[in-house]
Amino acid sequence: MSVRIERLAIIGVGLIGGSLVRALREAGVVKSVVGIGRSRPNLEEALSLGICDEITQDPVEGVRGADVVFISVPVCAIPGVVARIAPVLAPGCIVTDGGSVKTAIVGECEALMPSGCFFVGGHPIAGTEHTGAAASFSTLYRGRRCILTPTERTDAAALELVASLWRLAGAEVCFMEPGHHDRIFAEISHLPHMAAYALVHAVGTADVEGENILSYSAGGFRDFTRIASSDPAMWRDIALMNRNALLKSIDGFSASMAELRQRIEAGDGAGLSTFFTTAKQFRDGIV
Ligand code: NAP
Repeated sequence: MSVRIERLAIIGVGLIGGSLVRALREAGVVKSVVGIGRSRPNLEEALSLGICDEITQDPVEGVRGADVVFISVPVCAIPGVVARIAPVLAPGCIVTDGGSVKTAIVGECEALMPSGCFFVGGHPIAGTEHTGAAASFSTLYRGRRCILTPTERTDAAALELVASLWRLAGAEVCFMEPGHHDRIFAEISHLPHMAAYALVHAVGTADVEGENILSYSAGGFRDFTRIASSDPAMWRDIALMNRNALLKSIDGFSASMAELRQRIEAGDGAGLSTFFTTAKQFRDGIV
């Protein structure tokens, strides 16, 4: 599919939005980019880095005349942003997002689309713990997956165009139902972030005779907890928006910890070996 975007609007020019624009610019498929955000300094940085040609803090003004709008603000803010811009979207405009939770966003945003405009839900499986326009880079999506979550209301041509954009950015595109997406990512992404935050919180508040325990942290602790440095506001939003799936995942994790605790308490060495060996086999099987 040959792709040409005359005017691309990016709402939230951070790591995810900025990286997509950089990749699409390198692919030569975008004529002009308007960056839309809350704070002036981040937008000015995006302008000076050449990510955007124009910037504005007003989403309604920014999306006027855009043929594609990409939304990459924290997940809880996405439906509100779409509600604001929906009345002024140009006919035929395609609105898509990069939010990490899909069921609530896709349901609300599809319902907000005016006739003749199309919403396509998306989630690139790529990221770092850094935020803002300055953290973005054009190769972020290369060789990574991007999941698109069509429903029976999704326009086929809009879906194809969004898929083409992600392929141009270097991603491998796959498709799944929003609820299926949310169950998978509750387990493989949202639960690990909760576990990292909980672990650092527990160790950071543990009192061992007034010692600064964290000063003793070495490779294992640092590797395991890197993602606890992720943006707290973003993860608050994801936890609340994927609440039901995440609660099930946390229950599964709690059961695993309870089993481990019980085996340690019982001095069950054979049981612990089996538990650790099973986990190691799963981990070693990740390619
Ligand atoms: P980010 O670097 O912090 O970028 C988000 C941008 O949105 C910021 O520049 C922020 O600008 C702006 N913003 C926040 N609230 C806004 C609002 N209400 N209206 C307009 N702009 C607003 O975060 P990110 O990592 O790119 O994440 C963006 C989205 O991508 C989230 O939905 C997240 O779930 C999803 N995602 C993230 C990752 C990851 O690993 N980081 C991976 C996949 C998907 P100001 O600073 O001016 O407020």
